[in-house]
Amino acid sequence: MHEKDVFCKIIAGEIPCYKLYEDDDVLAFLDISQVTKGHALVVSKKHYENFLSCPQKEMHKVMDVAQRIGQVEIKLLGALGVNILTNCYPAAGQSVMHFHVHVIPRYEQDKGFAITMNNNAEGLNLPALAGEIKDNL
Ligand code: AMP
Repeated sequence: MHEKDVFCKIIAGEIPCYKLYEDDDVLAFLDISQVTKGHALVVSKKHYENFLSCPQKEMHKVMDVAQRIGQVEIKLLGALGVNILTNCYPAAGQSVMHFHVHVIPRYEQDKGFAITMNNNAEGLNLPALAGEIKDNL
């Protein structure tokens, strides 16, 4: 038995949340930090460490709900876009070790959220890299 994390406690009703959606496998609620207005979390009710260790069926259910929330938030909140992201392991920014997907609506004036993707391809052997990954899928 793992120690209950904050999302396990929310799922068990021990900590309150602003609930958006619930079924047997999935719970969605507003992220407490509201990186942007409407920032939501979609979590698997069963405890899995993250996206990478969640069985496919439940992962798909979580992603379905994330898609629906993203669609609604664009329509309802006037968001111009939405980032759907899931952090896996602390090195990638995961702080709660319970599988969850962020739905982050994006507006013209976003103060709190940015993703920067620099081009660091120089010096990498892309055919070899692609081959190595492909051969292990
Ligand atoms: P991550 O860094 O990807 O693990 O994201 C964890 C998220 O959980 C952060 O965005 C937190 O703001 C959010 N969070 C932590 N505690 C709560 C809580 N009690 N209710 C809602 N969101 C929470």
